Amino acid sequence: MTLRHPFFNAHSIGIGTCADPACRAVHVHLIDEDDRSRAQCVIACENVEAIIADLRSVRDRIVMGGEKKGLDN
Ligand SMILES: [Zn+2]
Repeated sequence: MTLRHPFFNAHSIGIGTCADPACRAVHVHLIDEDDRSRAQCVIACENVEAIIADLRSVRDRIVMGGEKKGLDN
């Protein structure tokens, strides 16, 4: 997956939980320049490791791939 602009580009992310004691998910908020949450994704605990693995995979492709980010195009 290659993401292209235009998108809202978050200034930072906030990682936490919600107030629901029954919720077993990590909440990731996209934070704007004024420290407001503009969107969130909710990641079930059992999916966290897979997402981290995906992040590492993309990171490694970028780091190892130079200016082409490891892509053929
Ligand atoms: Zn929750």
